Amino acid sequence: MTAILHIDWTSCDGRGLCTELLPGVLDRDDWGYPVARGKSGRERTDIPLRDADREAAQEAVSLCPKLALSLQERMEPARESRKPGR
Ligand code: SF4
Repeated sequence: MTAILHIDWTSCDGRGLCTELLPGVLDRDDWGYPVARGKSGRERTDIPLRDADREAAQEAVSLCPKLALSLQERMEPARESRKPGR
C-alpha cells in the first residue's frame, strides 16, 4: 500500500500552512496553492508519500483549516513479472 496525500484545491484557501509542515513534499504555485514539489500532472495534487513523511502529512491533514487535505491508501501498481526465457 502507498499513502497518497490528496489536495482539494476547490476547498483550499492557499495560505500555505501545509507547505510549512511538509517543506520537502509541498511547494506553492504562483497563486500560493500547495502543489507537490517537482511533480507535474495528476501527481501535483495526488502525492505518493514516503514513510518518513506520513506523520507530518497526518498533522497537515489534521490542521488544515479548510479540510482540503486527505490521506488515502492505494494499492501499489502490480509489478510485471518476467517469464524465464523472454
Ligand atoms: S493547509 Fe489546507 S487550506 Fe492551507 S494551503 Fe494547505 S491545503 Fe490549503
